Amino acid sequence: MLVLIANLGSTSFKYRLFDMQAGDGRVLAQGGFERVTDHGETIEAALAELESSGVIASRKDIDAVGFKTVLGRNLSGCVEAGQEVLDALDGFAAVAPAHNPPYAAGIRQFSRLLPEARLVALFETAFYQWVPEAASRYAVPRTWHEAGIRRYGFHGASHKFIAERSAELLGREDVAEVVRSLYQKGPQAVGTPLRVISCHLGGSSSVTGIRNGVAIGTSMGFSPQSGLPQNNRVGDLDSGAIPYAMKALGLELPEIERQLTKESGLLGLSGVSNDIRDVNEAAAQGNPDARIALDVLVHEIRRWASSFLFDLGGLDALTFTAGIGENGAPIREAVCKGLEGFGLKLDPEKNAACRATEAEISAADSTVKVFVIPANEELVLAREVFRKLS
Ligand code: AMP
Repeated sequence: MLVLIANLGSTSFKYRLFDMQAGDGRVLAQGGFERVTDHGETIEAALAELESSGVIASRKDIDAVGFKTVLGRNLSGCVEAGQEVLDALDGFAAVAPAHNPPYAAGIRQFSRLLPEARLVALFETAFYQWVPEAASRYAVPRTWHEAGIRRYGFHGASHKFIAERSAELLGREDVAEVVRSLYQKGPQAVGTPLRVISCHLGGSSSVTGIRNGVAIGTSMGFSPQSGLPQNNRVGDLDSGAIPYAMKALGLELPEIERQLTKESGLLGLSGVSNDIRDVNEAAAQGNPDARIALDVLVHEIRRWASSFLFDLGGLDALTFTAGIGENGAPIREAVCKGLEGFGLKLDPEKNAACRATEAEISAADSTVKVFVIPANEELVLAREVFRKLS
């Protein structure tokens, strides 16, 4: 089965073509376009590129196209991308303005250009379908709840992959199998409980608690604007701050939204950059704002991780993934500091040596394992598409 994964940004289009014969996935081709103004033209160009390179004889060889859609109104999971998905994306376009419109446009274009291919949407919220209601409700009036204002959670594909891979690394094939078939069968009973906290730390970050392969809660809520401080998005903010800022700073709502989306997070705190490498460098040179930006990020990671520790009632593994999680040894060290009392002890040498490769970085006598697990979201999506259609 040939599965094309379409990664659609507001001004970019990236693709990766997988041969899923064995179910595991082998990349046949990949490419991308920046400064996209017309997704239709770009998708046509990508298909022509695949044909002319000889990777495929004809575009008809593509069996399925997978889309990592973000947030749908009244819809989640891994589903065929038809009118229902388009309506769900349109219904929440205002909540995810950078993501939903390009995906809706892309799905429409692919259904026109590849009428015989199966189109599959994997919502980033899908992994949180079984989060207990108490962890997904906001304390707002019922009318708000009925308007869809609740905690959804994001980075679901990444955290689900961590749930599967961490179970494999811990020798828990029973749990790994539950994760693999989660969107087909739902949660299943397993032997001994398995408790994992997954830290996806990148340009956009979140922490998720996972029991027996199923998410019990996550740091992101209604929109990707919530939870940990992001590269230039604010993360959690007291709702009382917005009406106050409107009055005290004389700002209108669109400008408030712009500042909280574009000028906050690591950039807002540090005043230096939205890229943690620049913030690290500035902190090392003694910039106090850069230092506090790093400290706030670590504090918030620990705050969320500790909240899941109570719900999980213990921990078997703590995992790090995505750009900062895979490369940022100092952040990992700071997150794990002082947790020996909980049985979590990092091996400083293994931690310092680990960069963007899979590794166990806990000390030999640590009862909680600490893993770095590189993210591969396209492959995760290709596997979900394959499972959905097999
Ligand atoms: P992602 O969203 O997963 O692509 O991650 C992007 C983030 O990873 C950016 O903030 C980068 O600064 C960070 N990152 C990438 N490489 C490194 C590195 N070598 N050390 C620390 N952070 C890194």
